[in-house]
Amino acid sequence: MRHTKIIATVGPASDSDAMLDALIAAGADVFRLNFSHGTHETHAATFARIRAAAARACREIAILQDLGGPKIRTGALAGGQPLQVKPGEKLRIETGDFAGGPGRLSTTFDGLARSVRAGDRLLLADGVIELKVDATDGRVIQTTVVEGGRIGEHKGINAPGVPLPASAITPKDVDDLKFGLSLGVDLLALSFVQTAADLRQARQLMLDAGGAGVPLVAKIERPQALEHLDEIISSCDAVMVARGDLGLEMPLERVPRAQKEITRSARHHGIPVIVATQVLESMTMEARPTRAEVNDAANAVADGADAIMLSGETAIGAYAAKAVQTLDAIIRDAESSPEPVSELPVAPIHEDHAQAICEAAVTLADRADVQAIVAVTRGGATARRLSALRPSAPIVAATELGETARRLALHWGVVPLCMDLGEKLDAASARAGRRLVAQGLVKAGDAVVFVSVNADLTRADANYLKIQRL
Ligand code: PEP
Repeated sequence: MRHTKIIATVGPASDSDAMLDALIAAGADVFRLNFSHGTHETHAATFARIRAAAARACREIAILQDLGGPKIRTGALAGGQPLQVKPGEKLRIETGDFAGGPGRLSTTFDGLARSVRAGDRLLLADGVIELKVDATDGRVIQTTVVEGGRIGEHKGINAPGVPLPASAITPKDVDDLKFGLSLGVDLLALSFVQTAADLRQARQLMLDAGGAGVPLVAKIERPQALEHLDEIISSCDAVMVARGDLGLEMPLERVPRAQKEITRSARHHGIPVIVATQVLESMTMEARPTRAEVNDAANAVADGADAIMLSGETAIGAYAAKAVQTLDAIIRDAESSPEPVSELPVAPIHEDHAQAICEAAVTLADRADVQAIVAVTRGGATARRLSALRPSAPIVAATELGETARRLALHWGVVPLCMDLGEKLDAASARAGRRLVAQGLVKAGDAVVFVSVNADLTRADANYLKIQRL
């Protein structure tokens, strides 16, 4: 069984029944809907297609809604024609909604011209084009091209080090969030988080929209987020190392260290960490990844990432299913190493009985060489705690709630199993045990640990730990 999970972004290359079936068969655990693109109509159709594909495969697959956030973009171009710019040329970026052309680009983001200063750098189209700001009057930015290239319509603009308006949530995000929650997304990701205040604002919006229980993922893609990493990690349910924008907003050579810092900190706090962007980038066009890409993915596994995300590889790539298959093979091999996951830097100390029971379950599973740890769980807390402890046995999360099962699809080492549990834990464990054997997850005669934790110590059988041969 593979412990590290795979997230596949759905896009034109994968948004069909046949492709979704192929991605699930290849090993996708979570699908990402990227709200930087598409309309509510197209996302609703994709959402329904994913749910149907998961049902066909009898798998608990999560759907992650990724909000676009305050990404600054260039506007349209006259006739849709890409623009070629050369070093030394002058280029104006004007605030407004019009079609640009030779010598001038538009942006609807009015904060940019007010925030930049002469001497600042602007990176366009994923850093392909670099501009130096000569002057700004608060509406029009005069620049000189440093690195030239071709620029199409609606490309990203990054302004490294420039303080931009505070909130990570735009009016479009508010609209998209309400829409995603009304569809029933399983996880929600917030882009360009800078401080815990962004997450508090998102939680309030989620509460108002009836989605308070949906796990919130903080995308770390601005240097300001690294300065507030502890408070961010304490205020969200998972983090994503969003290396695309992070690699533009800070010096590229600083990204590997940031990735390790974020991974270590998330693992220390016991929340999932997702490594994202350009993981198998060359597979967007080629059938084989580069050696460096394979190494990068294997190292993310060794560092203890919960999940690795594919973006363009599955959204627009020519080898979408093969990219998932390849990542699955890389992860399996990395996990087969005798020392697959690096140790936690400092053992987390949680002074509560629930944590102590989960630690005991993991110790018991390791000493007795069991084939699975079965978390009998309603909201998923038992399975989440076990996952954070990185046991060697797979964690089967038996739950009655479909939403709990799907949310757990993101977590390292967790196999979600949705089933009828009944009232009594002993009977629920027996039922879960029979189901495990029936589904071929373990064999009759294998030893299994059953565990369930609850904050309420007055409940008769809520805190439960048992080892049994099936
Ligand atoms: C990233 O920047 O790495 C990322 C995951 O975000 P997006 O794909 O939305 O740009």
